[in-house]
Amino acid sequence: MNEEQKRTDINTLGEFGLIKQLIAPFTIKNASTVVGNGDDGAVIYSRDKQFVVSTDLLIEGIHFDLMYVPLRHLGYKAVIVNLSDIYAMNARPTQITVSIALSNRFSLEALEELYAGIRLASEKYEVDLIGGDTTSSQKGLVISVTAIGEVSPEKYVLRSTAREGDLLCVSGDLGAAYLGLQFLEREKKIFMENPNIKPDLENQAYLVGRQLKPEARRDIITYFEKNEIIPTSMIDISDGLSSEILHLCDQSGLGCNLYEEKIPISEEVRTAAYTFNLDPTMCALSGGEDYELLFTIPQEDYEKVKDDINITVIGYMTALHEPAVIITKGGNVHELIAQGWNAFRKP
Ligand code: ADP
Ligand code: MG
Repeated sequence: MNEEQKRTDINTLGEFGLIKQLIAPFTIKNASTVVGNGDDGAVIYSRDKQFVVSTDLLIEGIHFDLMYVPLRHLGYKAVIVNLSDIYAMNARPTQITVSIALSNRFSLEALEELYAGIRLASEKYEVDLIGGDTTSSQKGLVISVTAIGEVSPEKYVLRSTAREGDLLCVSGDLGAAYLGLQFLEREKKIFMENPNIKPDLENQAYLVGRQLKPEARRDIITYFEKNEIIPTSMIDISDGLSSEILHLCDQSGLGCNLYEEKIPISEEVRTAAYTFNLDPTMCALSGGEDYELLFTIPQEDYEKVKDDINITVIGYMTALHEPAVIITKGGNVHELIAQGWNAFRKP
């Protein structure tokens, strides 16, 4: 950090002064925001839409490490992970609230960095910051974001409504965020042992970027709208493909066949996985934080997705009481478990 950088103690501003300063650069973009920040509550209104609400809580030391996560990226990601949940309902995010708890270790300038990231995400995804809460904590930073979205009543998509025979699809590629984290952890370890060694992450821009600055798949929701697709079920991938497939299967009361060779994995992930002596498929299955969308569509809609480079069909849903399985490249069948697959081979 630049030693000449300005450091304003937050105690000199007081709670109201601090909030005022942080939220001043935000503007309102959505018609449904009737009253935004500054009163006891915000007012939102929509005549013909339903609202979707989703919250996440992020705790320093548990969900993020400020040793390698810049505050601006943290603010951005805290918003993105919530928008991803709204898109996973096939809805459009319109408002967010942001609540923080912080110790006096954070200066006004540090918080402005955090809010710069929050603003970047809210501008890019066109959501309004309509409120929040600010309080102190003894040690770490806590940040909670709530996102609100709009969806027509006939269009929201649940986890529980997949049907037998539906195609299982995923957006983007998987495993990158997890491998980005492996590089960051490795460089942190090296730095802790010898602070004079500069981190070597230059060749890992894609993977580290996927970990530090994820995006939410608004483009996929737009694609559904344009092509008149309403998925039969959907979930966003925050914990790894296996775990999310199991949620869809459990909540829909179905099994599924997943084909290892179909799982979209980038070249960067394959190369990096070998560097860390990891199996690329395992990184996709158990890695997490990719924030891609996992969804099912009726077989009749196959034509609508087959040529889109952002969507890959990776399997299909099977009958009630069938297990969720992965068929490996070698043709073996393994039952999926949340951490990947069960290595216990079927006879
Ligand atoms: P109250 O005492 O009624 O809870 P606050 O003083 O906490 O009100 O908040 C004043 C206004 O500032 C409210 O509109 C609130 O939503 C907003 N606000 C408070 N903290 C934050 C924050 N961290 N980010 C964005 N808005 C905030
Ligand atoms: Mg308050």
